[in-house]
Amino acid sequence: MREIVIVGGGIIGCTTAYYITRHKEFLEGAIKVTLLEASNRGPAQGASGKAGGLVARWAYPKGIVDLSFDEHVKLANEHNGEDRWGWRYVNCGSWEGRGTTRKNPGKSLEKEQGLPGGQKPLKGKSASSKRKLPDDLQWLKEESTDSYTPMARHGNTAQVHPYLFTMSMFDLAKEAGLQYICGQVTKILRSSEAVTGVEYFDPYTNDIQTLSASQVILTAGAWSPTLLPSLKLTATRAHSVTIRPIEETSISPYVVFTEFKDSSSASGPEIYARPGNEVYACGPGDDLALPATVDDVQVDESACDLIYKQVSSISDELRDGKIEKRQACYLPTVNSNRGGGPIIGEAKTVAKGLFIGTGHTCWGISNGPGTAKALSELVLEGEIKCADLKRFDPALYSL
Ligand SMILES: Cc1cc2nc3c(=O)[nH]c(=O)nc-3n(C[C@H](O)[C@H](O)[C@H](O)COP(=O)(O)OP(=O)(O)OC[C@H]3O[C@@H](n4cnc5c(N)ncnc54)[C@H](O)[C@@H]3O)c2cc1C
Repeated sequence: MREIVIVGGGIIGCTTAYYITRHKEFLEGAIKVTLLEASNRGPAQGASGKAGGLVARWAYPKGIVDLSFDEHVKLANEHNGEDRWGWRYVNCGSWEGRGTTRKNPGKSLEKEQGLPGGQKPLKGKSASSKRKLPDDLQWLKEESTDSYTPMARHGNTAQVHPYLFTMSMFDLAKEAGLQYICGQVTKILRSSEAVTGVEYFDPYTNDIQTLSASQVILTAGAWSPTLLPSLKLTATRAHSVTIRPIEETSISPYVVFTEFKDSSSASGPEIYARPGNEVYACGPGDDLALPATVDDVQVDESACDLIYKQVSSISDELRDGKIEKRQACYLPTVNSNRGGGPIIGEAKTVAKGLFIGTGHTCWGISNGPGTAKALSELVLEGEIKCADLKRFDPALYSL
């Protein structure tokens, strides 16, 4: 029997498990697949549980984007994503204006880089039109707004609740027969040229255990280089908050990228209205070193306060709401002059049977299902059939 081990229960690992458990060979009983997750709290505790959840046809890099968007649509139709993980189409725009004057230091998460020419493809309402915000975007202050520019045509931007999406993929895979182990993989084992298994720390016995494998899929997000040091990734920490507006407030479905002209910061928070009267907002990234596990990620309260302060200064509805979550997570970016990743494929020069799916920067939720489908094909059928993903091959990154 083929034994497949997946290292890491973020969106890439859980969705890969989902596709494998839907495959004919798995259904015939010829495969055992096990997912290991280092967090004591289960899957989706890192970026995949704490991201905004934007899914866009204008995401980057091209090549994986359309495949992944189409998979999101299929998954939502098949499993009632609307109710199960908050799938819906949203409006998305870039907002410029004035609110708080305090600077939010840090680096932009750079989602707008996927737009043609870098940003802002569509003509917004001109400065001379009376109302600068769309008529149904009532939850930002008109008087704080200098301009609002739609970033994409309706139908090209959607959203999921990333924690609910990732957990749904995990639960569906588990119902179909995925084995789950709570444990931190400490080593990928190999013979002279092929993987043979993994070693992991078992938090229940406090021992190192061994699990044999004919194929190992490394989907440990920003932590992937701890198991494969030749994989060059940068880990960027970013903070976010979730806000519950007061009951009677109606928050229309918009995702807004803000830029505060009265602050010396290049970019303000990204604000995501979500179904179920929840609003998510995230700030820029910083370089605080990656901790040992996802459970050790430090949350800087002042970074969360600043996001809330900026959001409150341009929205009475959000100012009057209640902060429910203050959180931080690390997004993985590939360090290479070939571009920022992701890396998807078999790292044959390291070991036969070692597969990698990581380095998804700020678009891992959007590009997760496409990556996972491709990985499942490669692992089970020996080639990626759903799209041409050669430009993400590990060999191009000396792996
Ligand atoms: C603030 C913010 C907002 C974002 N917004 C969006 C968005 O709107 N749209 C979008 O497309 N993307 C967004 N992203 C990016 C997206 O969140 C990431 O690209 C994606 O979640 C990465 O998924 P992953 O599965 O590779 O990694 P992760 O979610 O980090 O999962 C990796 C998992 O591996 C586990 N692990 C690590 N080491 C080990 C080990 N040794 N053994 C076992 N398990 C291990 C970790 O505990 C973790 O659970 C955002 C990111 C941030 C930070």
